[in-house]
Amino acid sequence: MKIYNTLTRQKETFTPIEEGKVRMYVCGPTVYNLIHIGNARPMIVFDAFRRYMEYKGYEVNYVTNFTDVDDKIIKKAQEEGVEASEISSRYIAECKKDMEGMNVRPATVHPLATEEIDGMIEMISVLIEKGYAYAVADGTVYFRTGKFAPYGKLSHKNPEDLQAGHRDIKVTGELKEEPFDFVLWKPKKEGEPAWKSPWGEGRPGWHIECSVMSKKYLGETIDIHAGGEDLIFPHHENEIAQSEAASGKEFAHYWMHNGFLNIDNRKMSKSVGNFFTVREIAQKYDLQVLRFFMLSAHYRSPLNFSAELMEAAKSGLERICTAAEQIERLQKVSDRKEMTAEEEELYAGTEQFREKFEAAMEDDCNTADAVSAIFELVKYINTNVSAEQSGSYLRKLYDRLKTLCDVLGIRIELKEEVLDGEIEKLIQERQDARKNKDFARADQIRDDLAQKGIILKDTREGVTWKRA
Ligand SMILES: [Zn+2]
Repeated sequence: MKIYNTLTRQKETFTPIEEGKVRMYVCGPTVYNLIHIGNARPMIVFDAFRRYMEYKGYEVNYVTNFTDVDDKIIKKAQEEGVEASEISSRYIAECKKDMEGMNVRPATVHPLATEEIDGMIEMISVLIEKGYAYAVADGTVYFRTGKFAPYGKLSHKNPEDLQAGHRDIKVTGELKEEPFDFVLWKPKKEGEPAWKSPWGEGRPGWHIECSVMSKKYLGETIDIHAGGEDLIFPHHENEIAQSEAASGKEFAHYWMHNGFLNIDNRKMSKSVGNFFTVREIAQKYDLQVLRFFMLSAHYRSPLNFSAELMEAAKSGLERICTAAEQIERLQKVSDRKEMTAEEEELYAGTEQFREKFEAAMEDDCNTADAVSAIFELVKYINTNVSAEQSGSYLRKLYDRLKTLCDVLGIRIELKEEVLDGEIEKLIQERQDARKNKDFARADQIRDDLAQKGIILKDTREGVTWKRA
């Protein structure tokens, strides 16, 4: 498989550290709010990458963190008058719901920054010992960027430019040695969560979190580190500096970055008012449509989100689901089991689509071309199935389609059927919870259903429901 490596700026053949295994770290969101569709893009594209690697037989150790201590979380907590941990655990739970809706599989491990503080203190201590970091009078610890010679190798910036860029933003009264030195540990401010450390009470900087979590769960050197391209500088550059200065080893062999997501050709921003959370999209669309939309583009290309393109994704996905539904229906009425020689040959004709699909994925995870291969398979299916055909033939066609869609994490099962039964079951569970006076659970079920666009109505005759 070829991967475009941001570090070398070229496509390289993927060679894992350990045969048959992939150690991969993807930077996760800071949990102070519902995730937005910009957060969703790396989740979806790297989930598809992971699924493909597993399909190829790799054992993938996939780690993605939640940053659960941060200025934004603290600010939100202060606004609501609650603990920061209440904000972070609330939005971790919400994020996991969105992930499920988008069919993003849980990571092998989802470490939380606040549970890894000891490791951070340890790494910072090593950096100080080696002369790569220093503590100042107010209890802040900085990374001595100038001492790490390869600094800038990922973002391809040279140290002079970096220094020049930082000079303007130097705040007077700062105790750091050089403008581009960055924070590893910051001292406690009144009302903020803090942990004890050799430099006084405080909390870690954002960059050190990922260096430490990656090391703990994947080792000092990993295969792939990934995230949005906005993280290349300074976040990933700083992670490299910290990890490599501490271990003396290369941090990650391959760096993968997804492109930006624009809305109606403009940068997504709250102030412009073109900002969407995944939850808002879920009110209009099945999140499978969002997933399909994201995978219809190459992960490194900038992606434009618009109502029109979402509609196009919706009808594209429907075309695939309709073909799957058609085969299933025919299979039910088919009265012949064994495949004929002609059917064998027809089935063999689908091999080319699998090959095209794999070739696209092998070429730097080109999901756009992989989706095209699925469409070609769908077209082939539509012209080569009928009620006269054998059950085995139809089954095999269905399996081929499903296998390829599964690799991309695209669900082709009939949603309505699954959902109706699920709704009835949940309504019953809610009734039982109410009977047992477990109103929290009852409310949660109602909210969960509302999130899926199912509105419950309590009437004298019982509970009725409708789709929003
Ligand atoms: Zn990170």
